[in-house]
Amino acid sequence: MTAITLTVGDDGIAIALMDLPGRPMNVVNDELMTALAAAADRLIGDPEIKGMVLTSAKADFCAGGDIDRISKLENAQQAFDATMQMKAVLRRLETCGKPVVAALNGHALGGGLEIALACHARVALDDPKLKLGQPEVKLGLLPGGGGTVRLPRLVGIQQALQIMAEGNDISPAKALAMGLLTELAATPDELMARARAWALANPKAKQPWDAPKFRFPGGDSRAPAVAQMFAIGPSMASARSYGNYPAVTHIMSAVFEGGLLDFEAASVVESRYFAACAMSAESRNMIGTFWYQLNAIKKGASRPHGVAPSKVGKLGILGAGMMGAGIAYVSAKVGIEVVLLDSTTEAAERGKAYSQGLLDKAVKKGRSTAEKRAALLSRITPTTDYALLAGCDLVIEAVFEDRAVKAGVTKLAEAQMAATAVFASNTSTLPITGLAAASVRPTHFLGLHFFSPVDKMPLVEIIVGAETSEQTLARGFDYVLQIGKTPIVVNDSRGFYTSRVFGTYVMEGITMLKEGVHPRSIEVAGLQAGMPMPPLALQDEVSLSLGLFVAEQTKKDLASEGKSCSEHPGMSVVRQLCEIGRVGKKVGKGFYDWAEAGKSLWPELATLYPVAAEQPAQRELIDRLLFAQANEAARCLEEGVLRSVADGNIGSIFGWGFAPFQGGALQFIDAMGVPAFVERARELAARHGARFEPAPLLVALAQQGRRLADH
Ligand code: NAD
Repeated sequence: MTAITLTVGDDGIAIALMDLPGRPMNVVNDELMTALAAAADRLIGDPEIKGMVLTSAKADFCAGGDIDRISKLENAQQAFDATMQMKAVLRRLETCGKPVVAALNGHALGGGLEIALACHARVALDDPKLKLGQPEVKLGLLPGGGGTVRLPRLVGIQQALQIMAEGNDISPAKALAMGLLTELAATPDELMARARAWALANPKAKQPWDAPKFRFPGGDSRAPAVAQMFAIGPSMASARSYGNYPAVTHIMSAVFEGGLLDFEAASVVESRYFAACAMSAESRNMIGTFWYQLNAIKKGASRPHGVAPSKVGKLGILGAGMMGAGIAYVSAKVGIEVVLLDSTTEAAERGKAYSQGLLDKAVKKGRSTAEKRAALLSRITPTTDYALLAGCDLVIEAVFEDRAVKAGVTKLAEAQMAATAVFASNTSTLPITGLAAASVRPTHFLGLHFFSPVDKMPLVEIIVGAETSEQTLARGFDYVLQIGKTPIVVNDSRGFYTSRVFGTYVMEGITMLKEGVHPRSIEVAGLQAGMPMPPLALQDEVSLSLGLFVAEQTKKDLASEGKSCSEHPGMSVVRQLCEIGRVGKKVGKGFYDWAEAGKSLWPELATLYPVAAEQPAQRELIDRLLFAQANEAARCLEEGVLRSVADGNIGSIFGWGFAPFQGGALQFIDAMGVPAFVERARELAARHGARFEPAPLLVALAQQGRRLADH
C-alpha cells in the first residue's frame, strides 16, 4: 500500500489521494513525501496526464508535521536536511509545468498547509469548522516546509507574519478573503469538480513567485510600511514574551531575510531557522508536554484501566453561584441535562442567566445561533427542589466553602440519588476524605476541582479521596473528557496539587516585598519568568482575605489533628493588608489601587515595606519564583499527591499558567538537570530560607543520575 494513489480521469486530470496506511490522519513524514515525489515524477513523465488534484481519503487533508520524527532529530544538520528534502519535493511539484490543485476536504495545518501552498491553486470546503493554519509556533517551531517563503509571497508579509507568529486557525472564508485560498466549494463533489475545472482551465499553471516580474503583495522587506513594521515588530514581540519564545523571533527573521532574497535562498534561510527552533530547549519542552504528555492524558493514562466507559446524561449541580453556573453552561453545551439547584429560586435562575449572557454574546458575535442558544438553555432547569435530582448520574456540589453547609447539601442530595450515582465536590481547599464523611457512600464520592472562569479554563483537577473507588474515579474522568476539558488526577491532600503549588508563587512574591524588594521589580520578575500574571496583582485578583482565610483554616485543622505548621514568611504581609481593609481587587484596593481606567501599585506600599537600598539581581527574583513552585511540585510527587509527571506538568500550565515554554513545573527541573536544580535550590535555601531546600526525592534522583520523568 502506498501513501498516495493516483487515478487518471478521461479528461487527463489525475486525482492524487493521500491516505497514509495505518494512521488516523495524514502527517508529513518520509512515507508521504516519497509518495508525493513519485506522484510528481508521474505527472512530469506521463504525457497523458494534463494536471493533478491533490486531496485526501481521510477526514482531513493533512494534520501537519510528524512530531515523532521532529522530536527524534538529533542535531541541527539533521533538522536542516529533513526540511530541505521536503522542500525539494514541493519545489519539483510546483515547477513541473502542469497544474496542481489542492482540494482541501478537511483541516490543512502546518506541513499540510505548506503542501497546499506548493500547489498552484487551493480549493476548500466551505465549512467553518475546517481549520487552516501554521500552528508550529505553539510547539516552539516554525514552518520549515516553505511556509515562511510562500505564505508572505501569497498573502503579504504582514498577514503571513500574523498567521505564523500567533499560530491560530483560520476559517476557509477568511482564508479566501486574504487570498490564501483560490475558491470555496459547498459540497465534496463540488470541491472535486472545481479543482478539476481549475486544472483544465490553467494548463500552464505557474506560481506567482516564478513569474519574472513577481512582487510581494504589499511589498517585500524593503517596502516602507513593511520595513517600519520590522523596525518595531521584533522588539514588541520580544517585550510581550520577555524573550522566552525564540520561535517568534526566528519566524520574523526568516520572513524578513526571505523578503530580501530570491525563492531558493529564502528556502535555505528558513531551514536554518527551523533547525535553530527544533534544537531549542523551549521546543523540546513544549513538544514533550503539549504533545506527548497531553496526548497520554487525553488517552486515559491516569484513568483506571478495565472500567467500562461512561457518559453523564443528567447532571445535578448544588449551588448556582459563580462556579455552579459555569459548570452548568459547559455541561449543557455538550448536551447534558442539568438540574441547577440553589437555596432560592432567584439564585438558581441567576445561575441559569449566566449561560444566557454567554450565549447572547456568542450569538451577537456569530459564534452561535439563536436555535443553539435556545436548545442549550432548555437543558438547564433551575430549582430549589432536591427531588429533581432523581435520575442524575452525577451531582456536583459548588456551595459555599464551608464544611457544615457542604455536609448538609450532600445528605439532602444523596437522599434523592440512585445508589450508583456519583457525588463530587468542587471544593478548592477542603480535603475530600473529610467531606466524604458526610456521605453515606464515600466510595462514590470524589473531588472535581474546576477553575474560574469555568467556560475558559481547560483543566479539571480530580481528587481521589481515601475511599473513592476506581470506578468512581473513571466516571469522573470520563465526565471531564465529555465536557471537553483536560483531567489530571491527584490524591487527597490540603490544597491538592494546583492550589498548593500556585500558593508558593504568590507568597514568594509577597515575601520579596517584605524584604524590601521594589514591588515593580517583583512584578516584572513574574512576567520575565513566563507567568501570565505577576504575583502581587494575582494575589489582588484572588483576594488577600481568601488567602488569609485558607491559611487560618489550615492552621486550625492541623491544630485539631495535634499538628503544628510553620507560617509562610509572606503571610504577615497578607494579614497586615487585610487589617487595613486592602483585601484585593474586589474592594478596589490591595497591593494595587484598582480603578476603571486600570491599576497602579499602591504608593504607600513603600511606607509599610521600605525599599532596600541594595536590590537583588533580577535573575535571583526570577529563580526564586520558579524554584519555589518547581520544588513544591516535586514534593507533591514525592508525597504521592501527584500520581504522574504528566499530570504535574499539564496541571501547572493549564491550572495556574506556569511558564508554558518551560514545559511545566516538573519539566523545569528535568530540563535544567536534577543535579543543577538541587545545587541552585540549596543556594537559594541558604539565602532565603528552608522552603527552598530541595525535595529529598530530587536529592536522591540527582545522586542516581535519574530524571523526574524516569520516576
Ligand atoms: P459563590 O458564592 O459564587 O456560590 C455559592 C452558591 O451556593 C451561592 O449561589 C449560594 O446561594 C449557594 N448556596 C449556599 N448554600 C447553599 C445551600 N445550602 N443550598 C443550596 N445552595 C447554596 O461561590 P463560588 O465561587 O461559586 O464557589 C463555590 C465552591 O467552588 C466553593 O467550594 C469554592 O471553594 C469552590 N471553587 C471556587 C473557585 C473560584 O474561583 N471562585 C474555584 C474553584 C473552586
